[in-house]
Amino acid sequence: MADTKLISVIVPCYNEQEVLPMFYAEITKISKQMTDKHPELTFEYVFIDDGSKDKTLSGLRELANQDSRVRYISFSRNFGKEAGIYAGLSNAKGDYCVVMDADLQHPPKFLPIMYEAVASGEYDCATTRRVSRDGESPVRSFFARLFYKIMNKISQTEIVDGAQDFRFMSRQMVDAVLSMSEYNRFSKGIFSWVGFRVKYLEYENVERAAGTTAWSFWGLFRYSIEGIIGFSTFPLSIPVMAGAVSCLISLLFLLIEAFADKMSGALTAVIFLLLFLGGLILISIGVLGMYLSKTYLEVKHRPIYLARETEKDAYKFAKPVESIDVAINDADDAENDEDTSDSEE
Ligand code: UDP
Ligand code: MG
Repeated sequence: MADTKLISVIVPCYNEQEVLPMFYAEITKISKQMTDKHPELTFEYVFIDDGSKDKTLSGLRELANQDSRVRYISFSRNFGKEAGIYAGLSNAKGDYCVVMDADLQHPPKFLPIMYEAVASGEYDCATTRRVSRDGESPVRSFFARLFYKIMNKISQTEIVDGAQDFRFMSRQMVDAVLSMSEYNRFSKGIFSWVGFRVKYLEYENVERAAGTTAWSFWGLFRYSIEGIIGFSTFPLSIPVMAGAVSCLISLLFLLIEAFADKMSGALTAVIFLLLFLGGLILISIGVLGMYLSKTYLEVKHRPIYLARETEKDAYKFAKPVESIDVAINDADDAENDEDTSDSEE
């Protein structure tokens, strides 16, 4: 048999108690199909419990006690999906790693195709790209499109519209992603920044299998600002350009003042200019502040996540199973047998 190849399936979970059993059923089904076809394949499932407040963690403990392929890392609090992806990738042992959502919006049926693409050596990464945003509110779609437009204009790193965090990667690419150890993580940018050959598989949007999305509109807004600040320095140059333009305008005013006998509405012009320049200065300081705050967090070198429990602790929560009862009963019987043999002597 050829060398075994391990595939690590990394699944960030936040309050996913409802979908977890469905996801586990699906992923084990696909794994079986894949191992039947390629006997050299083995799997590990690395679940990240991102400080869930529901029964996700107890579900994971149960799975880990039943199935040795199940591993998990439970965070000390909610650190966000990005931290979950990082924790999963840095703890995965696989020759290949695939990151996917727990809610089945990243259909496991793509895994065999992704594996073929990457294992062939032609690609280092296979990912899906949504070609429709069906099931998403029009407002959200509009802002998402706007974000991709702006982002791709002002950043050197291309962020493909509709590209997702559902990524099947070679070990080489995983190591490259991990070498970017920044605190402010924006995976879509990181995956693109490292380069490598990426195969895009197109598919129609699927709705969540159960539960609700953890993303609010403002959450997404903050996330897109994170993306822009993380992968573009263009906003820093806006104040410079605006400053240059306002200097030119003020020179123009000076010229008009010098050549015209008297300016009409001079007071209005002064008030307008004061407010306008004041606004520009405040915006510029704000932009500087945003970059400075990210730099501040970055230089602190805080850990990206903190784990409080892993699958190695799962046994502590194992329910007493029948086999343990049987073992105890057997031991008792053996003692009784010894007793009887003693008495016979
Ligand atoms: N998730 C996470 N931490 C969070 C929010 C979400 O690990 O703070 C996980 C979530 O459990 C899911 C994936 O990230 O597996 C995508 O989240 P969700 O489905 O809520 O986002 P959407 O699909 O709406 O973008
Ligand atoms: Mg989802």
